[in-house]
Amino acid sequence: MTTRSLLILPGDGIGPEVMAEVRKVIDWLGAKRDLAFEVSEDLVGGCAYDKHGTPLHDDTMAKAQEVDAVLLGAVGGPKYDDLDFSVKPERGLLRLRKEMDLFANLRPAQCFDALADFSSLKRDVVSGLDIMIVRELTSGVYFGEPRGIFEEGNERVGINTQRYTESEIDRVARAAFDLAMKRGKKLCSMEKANVMESGILWREVVTRVGADYPEVELSHMYADAGAMQLTRWPKQFDVIVTDNLFGDLLSDLAAMLTGSLGMLPSASLGAPMENGRPKALYEPVHGSAPDIAGQGKANPIACILSFAMALRYSFDLGEEAARVEGAVEAVLAKGLRTADLLGEEGVSPVSTAEMGDAVIAELDASL
Ligand code: NAD
Repeated sequence: MTTRSLLILPGDGIGPEVMAEVRKVIDWLGAKRDLAFEVSEDLVGGCAYDKHGTPLHDDTMAKAQEVDAVLLGAVGGPKYDDLDFSVKPERGLLRLRKEMDLFANLRPAQCFDALADFSSLKRDVVSGLDIMIVRELTSGVYFGEPRGIFEEGNERVGINTQRYTESEIDRVARAAFDLAMKRGKKLCSMEKANVMESGILWREVVTRVGADYPEVELSHMYADAGAMQLTRWPKQFDVIVTDNLFGDLLSDLAAMLTGSLGMLPSASLGAPMENGRPKALYEPVHGSAPDIAGQGKANPIACILSFAMALRYSFDLGEEAARVEGAVEAVLAKGLRTADLLGEEGVSPVSTAEMGDAVIAELDASL
């Protein structure tokens, strides 16, 4: 029998509230689709600091290394703002990313038809949009040496170094090609090969990896032109792969094409484990939203969609992922809105739990 192990780390603020709605989806899959998950739950962030004096206990780290996927809510909050840097809630998340060596950050930009008017772009440009940006996360200019601020003559100079090895490019390219195979089989690689040697190497290695994926249509684009194309006609893309710096900018740009922070899921993947599944951490893009925590106002959709990504990319349950995404789409099409999605006149908001229950009702209706 296939086992599917999942470590849930709800975290702080609205984390536990949105995670409670994901729990409903997990229970539904067990009850109605005969898909069992071995779920364990633990602490991360401020709540872990409160209990253990550290934002991520070693036992929790060890568990994260063993499971098929980790699902995280959010960490942080004003209560922890004055803590020493070494034990700040965010350090727990950074430790997970670092020790699991999660080198590929997946940021989808998906626009549900019912929310197309929330975008700053015209409806027909974004409606039905479904693209995925894969950002290299553990190397490049944010980590390269030498770095620092140095004296040079009678002034100072600030230095950062863009550095990529062939193996670093190879592994993130493979992750992106694997994703493209599970999606529309189109991959666009973005760099600045016209002005950067690291870009020349990037293009060369991605092209070489592409030979192992003959079914995927590979194209290359300079990252600045890519930014223009993303705002001009984003639907031309399926999967985009790019480095850490360009990916930081392009994924934020693409995400905002589609509207609210409460809607945005993400994933970070590492190397394949013994069972062939990649090390994986799934989490909503938003933070712990202390301004609305504990009030039942949080939108659980980003977290539910993060779990849908886990279904597709960790558990090979693409059909069930599409069912969950379809249920979210149906709920939005019926006009249900949490407070962050209000804008239309005469619509009153539903609570976090009501939104979760509505998703479950649509899942039932999908059978
Ligand atoms: P935030 O994402 O928590 O909130 C920004 C704004 O968006 C707030 O007005 C909030 O109410 C709203 N919002 C966010 N998620 C929402 C949701 N699901 N539904 C409805 N509204 C939502 O960012 P912030 O205010 O800059 O940070 C708050 C805390 O979260 C800080 O401690 C920060 O360090 C932490 N943070 C954590 C993560 C993470 O865990 N990955 C990411 C970003 C920020």
